[in-house]
Amino acid sequence: MCIFCKIINHEIPSSVVYEDENTLAILDISQVTKGHTLVMPKKHVANILEADPETVAQCAETVRKLAIQITANTNASGCNILNNTHESAGQTVDHLHFHIIPRYDENDAIVIAFNESKPQDLGEVLKTVRGE
Ligand code: AMP
Ligand code: ZN
Repeated sequence: MCIFCKIINHEIPSSVVYEDENTLAILDISQVTKGHTLVMPKKHVANILEADPETVAQCAETVRKLAIQITANTNASGCNILNNTHESAGQTVDHLHFHIIPRYDENDAIVIAFNESKPQDLGEVLKTVRGE
């Protein structure tokens, strides 16, 4: 059983921020910024590429509610909402989850950088992503 399923089953303790029938939100054990929260479905699914639409929709609604709540209650000036899918993208726990990371100022502990990109033929890229 994966570590998040063990948390959902109360086999491992966690700091529960929010719970409903289908989703659970807990404090990330490693608080990138104060209030860093993970939202996950109670049903085990490895990642968004394998999840059914209903599960994703349930998570999205919990993320929406908690983004408002956490940003307000931490007095953050914004938040990042992040999902890592597969190891290449930094996924370390193979149970779908979304990070809500309150942001305080540009000197807080997180840097999300879009490195300078190489010029691309957007027509070619569009064909690729549309599967043409
Ligand atoms: P990711 O790298 O997107 O797969 O994120 C996994 C996150 O789970 C990391 O930020 C970890 O700090 C967090 N994490 C791992 N184990 C636990 C745990 N037992 N309780 C709370 N958060 C955890
Ligand atoms: Zn799981």
